[in-house]
Amino acid sequence: MNQSSQGRARLSVPEWFPKGVALLRDPTLNKGMAFTEDERDALGIRGLLPAHVLSQEEQVARVLENFRQKPTNLEKFINLAALHDRNEALFFRIVMDNPDEMMPIIYTPTVGLACQRFGHIFQRPRGLFISAKDKGRIGNILRNWPYRDVAMIVVTDGERILGLGDLGANGMGIPVGKLALYTACAGIHPTQCLPVVLDMGTNNEALLSDPLYIGLHEKRLTGSAYDEIVDEFITATQRVFPGSVVQFEDFANHNAFRLLEKYRNGICTFNDDIQGTAAVALSGMLSALRITGGKLSRQKILFFGAGEAATGIADLTVAAMVSEGCSLADARRNCWLVDSKGLVVASRTGLVAHKQPYAHEHAPISDFPTAVRTLKPTAIIGVAAVGGTFTPEVLQDMARINERPIVFALSNPTTQSECTAEEAYRWTDGRALFACGSPFDPVTQGGRMHVPRQGNNSYIFPGVGLAAVATRATRVTDEMFMAAARALAAQVSEEDLAQGSLYPPLPKVREVSAHIATAVAAVVYAQGFATVPQPADLLSFMRAQMYDPHYPSYVDR
Ligand code: NAD
Repeated sequence: MNQSSQGRARLSVPEWFPKGVALLRDPTLNKGMAFTEDERDALGIRGLLPAHVLSQEEQVARVLENFRQKPTNLEKFINLAALHDRNEALFFRIVMDNPDEMMPIIYTPTVGLACQRFGHIFQRPRGLFISAKDKGRIGNILRNWPYRDVAMIVVTDGERILGLGDLGANGMGIPVGKLALYTACAGIHPTQCLPVVLDMGTNNEALLSDPLYIGLHEKRLTGSAYDEIVDEFITATQRVFPGSVVQFEDFANHNAFRLLEKYRNGICTFNDDIQGTAAVALSGMLSALRITGGKLSRQKILFFGAGEAATGIADLTVAAMVSEGCSLADARRNCWLVDSKGLVVASRTGLVAHKQPYAHEHAPISDFPTAVRTLKPTAIIGVAAVGGTFTPEVLQDMARINERPIVFALSNPTTQSECTAEEAYRWTDGRALFACGSPFDPVTQGGRMHVPRQGNNSYIFPGVGLAAVATRATRVTDEMFMAAARALAAQVSEEDLAQGSLYPPLPKVREVSAHIATAVAAVVYAQGFATVPQPADLLSFMRAQMYDPHYPSYVDR
């Protein structure tokens, strides 16, 4: 314990704790003008701050005043990023207390725009940038990271950022945003979170010719050269941060599926685009069926898109149907895919492995509206990142076929959404059971207010991550995502359903994540993948792990 310069307050922090300007410049410890009089004396910062001491609540009010005056969402994004770099506790306090307002800025849709403009709005680096030039020294780069307790890594190679395509190293905005949600929504401590971009080059000509593009100005690495970098990275993560969870994010699907298969039985890893999306969509369907009273295994689901999201959702839904007693063959036959070449049918040649289980015997159909009219699905799920494809005609057909059509427009960001909430309700006479990937405002249709909620994996991945980190899990399995889907659906109240909401309100997301983490952790223990003893009360254990952004006191009196 150190004696303060005034001789009254005693430091409650260790000897090595930063002091003076170093403390003010450390975003994980900085409190800005909220440092107390005693702290200012004891930590050598008197005079480095204006005399007035603010409470965290007063700081929140000041930040919100500035934030709300910003004329565009991109400027709001930049404003929050700067706060994140300056004072993490205040940043998380604001995000946690205002999730409806803040999540669309730090995550989809605004993060998509921020990634497109990344080089032009760049102020301070966040996360680790590992490039194709770093072969042989990736472990050393990981050791450059200032925090040693890393437990959750989100990595992208930037090739399929949201529905915006190849944004190269600009894709860093996604791991940064996603990890902010791991902290805000599930309380994983900020210093346990590591965002990484594997800069393999880019095939985006606009970026290659932009002098302010932040990444390698080279075409993408492919083949074994690409695989060697990924392999060196994965090996290094487990050497430098043993047991850390590695979440793959926004890889193009030609890499996403095979990398997941390659690593999922060796380390604690998952691909959120495949598995997290699957769980959030399945959960939405389970909620919709609470309204219609139908059985999951009686649904016929037509996907627009046949990539990571579509086949991930189909695979988990099939597993859930099988758990209801349906045969595997029948369950698969309930799921149909439309890709850029039309309906995926058995006569199509050269289909990649993830589409094959859904290539049923059927005459070819070249377009989605005809597929809807022919197959008469109970649910359509849009995950092709082609905006506006749920046309009035498609929606009217769904409303003719079904009393309560299930319509999920999950593509992100908002520009790629298959339809808006207003369109979904208008063209189905307000009968659609609707969910969307990006946020939409409530819609009044026929005198009733419908409150659409985001079918976004941000409801799922924070809780799954918390469970994996808290139990020090060695694997993440499909059964854990099934448990997450069911736990999320169980958090949807009758009041939510009455207003057409298939997900709980965002302000409940921390409580929801605690329940998801509890359900997932129960599977981690049941499957023998935990490496810490099982606590008696899992829910209390999860709650106790969660980061609290209130400022700690650095002095004792
Ligand atoms: P992906 O690249 O793996 O798959 C895209 C699929 O769309 C491919 O099968 C492709 O053939 C198909 N496609 C492309 N153009 C088409 C067209 N004109 N007609 C029919 N099919 C076409 O991408 P993904 O990971 O599956 O993501 C797709 C979209 O889903 C993105 O917009 C992404 O942001 C969104 N998504 C949303 C969530 C969420 O939580 N809501 C989660 C994951 C992905």
